[in-house]
Amino acid sequence: MIYHSTRDVNAQADSAQAVLEGLAPDGGLYVPKALPPFDWKECLQGSAMDMSTAILSALLPDIPDMPELVKKAYTGKFATAELTPTVPVGDMHVLELFHGPTSAFKDVALCMLPQLLTAAKTVKGVEEDILILTATSGDTGKAALEGFKDVDGIKICVFYPDGGVSQVQRAQMVTQEGGNVTVSAVVGNFDDAQTGVKMIFSACRDKEMKHRLSSANSINIGRLAPQIMYYFKAYRDLLDAGKISLGDEVNFSVPTGNFGDILAGYLAKQLGLPVGMLICASNANNVLTDFIRTGTYDRMRPLYKTNSPSMDILVSSNLERLLYLLSEDADLVASLMKRLNEEGSYTVPAELLRKIQAQFRADFCDDAAADEVMGRVYRDYGYVCDPHTASGWLAAENYVNQTGDERAMVVLSTASPYKFPEAVLKAIGETPAGDGFDQMDQLNAVTGVATPKNLAGLREKAERHTGVIEKSQMLEFVLSL
Ligand SMILES: *Cc1c(COP(=O)(O)O)cnc(C)c1O
Repeated sequence: MIYHSTRDVNAQADSAQAVLEGLAPDGGLYVPKALPPFDWKECLQGSAMDMSTAILSALLPDIPDMPELVKKAYTGKFATAELTPTVPVGDMHVLELFHGPTSAFKDVALCMLPQLLTAAKTVKGVEEDILILTATSGDTGKAALEGFKDVDGIKICVFYPDGGVSQVQRAQMVTQEGGNVTVSAVVGNFDDAQTGVKMIFSACRDKEMKHRLSSANSINIGRLAPQIMYYFKAYRDLLDAGKISLGDEVNFSVPTGNFGDILAGYLAKQLGLPVGMLICASNANNVLTDFIRTGTYDRMRPLYKTNSPSMDILVSSNLERLLYLLSEDADLVASLMKRLNEEGSYTVPAELLRKIQAQFRADFCDDAAADEVMGRVYRDYGYVCDPHTASGWLAAENYVNQTGDERAMVVLSTASPYKFPEAVLKAIGETPAGDGFDQMDQLNAVTGVATPKNLAGLREKAERHTGVIEKSQMLEFVLSL
């Protein structure tokens, strides 16, 4: 199947090559030239893993043995065989995506990506080891480490900002096991770590390297495609619960950062799933809210540090894919991205904005509003959600209140509340005491919600990666691996 760059339809790759490369050579993202025929009703019949197999076989047909890869990726890794259960809460349906090995929704994709990369390597006859380089503000790093640990032919190196991640997130990373993993703190903030990684990529581009460099970011189609499954799974759960009939449209509200998760919902819709409105939920960093409401994307604004750090982002990479898919105009996308890069903003043509607004709504939720939602949802329904999920909840609620839309609403829940115990405790009216581990225990004692196994065992685990380096040392560090 042919993929091409969002900026040039002639920059093409088959699906295995696209997974291997991540980013297209011109800096664009790979999109399918045409979507394959897909029997969405048939897809709804199987288990979550069957759904994954059907979707990934259709979108990545150049990668063989998909049933086997899916089995290897997910078997025994999630707390439940359904992988992503849907829970009714009031009038909403909460799609819990956080039951994977690191309690983050990114597990769904990062369990699968290593399998896809390894298989793509074999198909393309790539013999050298791949080195995955990742800068993380907390969640991606751990999910990637866990996904890639002890995978043959691949090594992974994660950089996180020293003092810039929560105590629980740090503990998750520095205790990481596996013979092919490296973790280091970098003096500075997330942007410093991220800029350092980008510099390594460009410094190594034309160098003779021991490894081939790659990334675990959602710019890779191999990371995006595995996320389509849970939209089908949620739809099936609503069918089974008698909430909808086959063919009814369902709305989804999605806590959004890099626009990967919500774009997977759009692709599910393109594959035939009856998806109604896709609601893009942001935190105080509401660049996407402004864009979807006005057509102007403007990254020239301060970046706020919030209680939902995985959504603290000003440049949302996967939006570029949506711009292409709705306009089918690579020259337009190339010029918009050039403007974003050089001037910091762009405005889309009215016709494109109209198409976006026909399928997407947007809203945002600052920390105070998220606290209010977490408190109220707990009081009213006894349900504990994290600050990211709270933004999705509020956006869904506002949308229903403003439009009276009666279609079933699914709110995607992207993190376990146990990853943010301090914020959650405060929001539900408790006074957090002690360190992050104590707060997890406190949250468990107050709410009775079980602590995820991977987090409960952290306090006892040995720290294995305690190094801290300067930004200027990152390249040397990577070359020595
Ligand atoms: C990464 C992340 C998001 C945002 O997902 P995108 O695909 O980047 O839009 C939302 N919530 C949590 C908890 C995340 O880790």
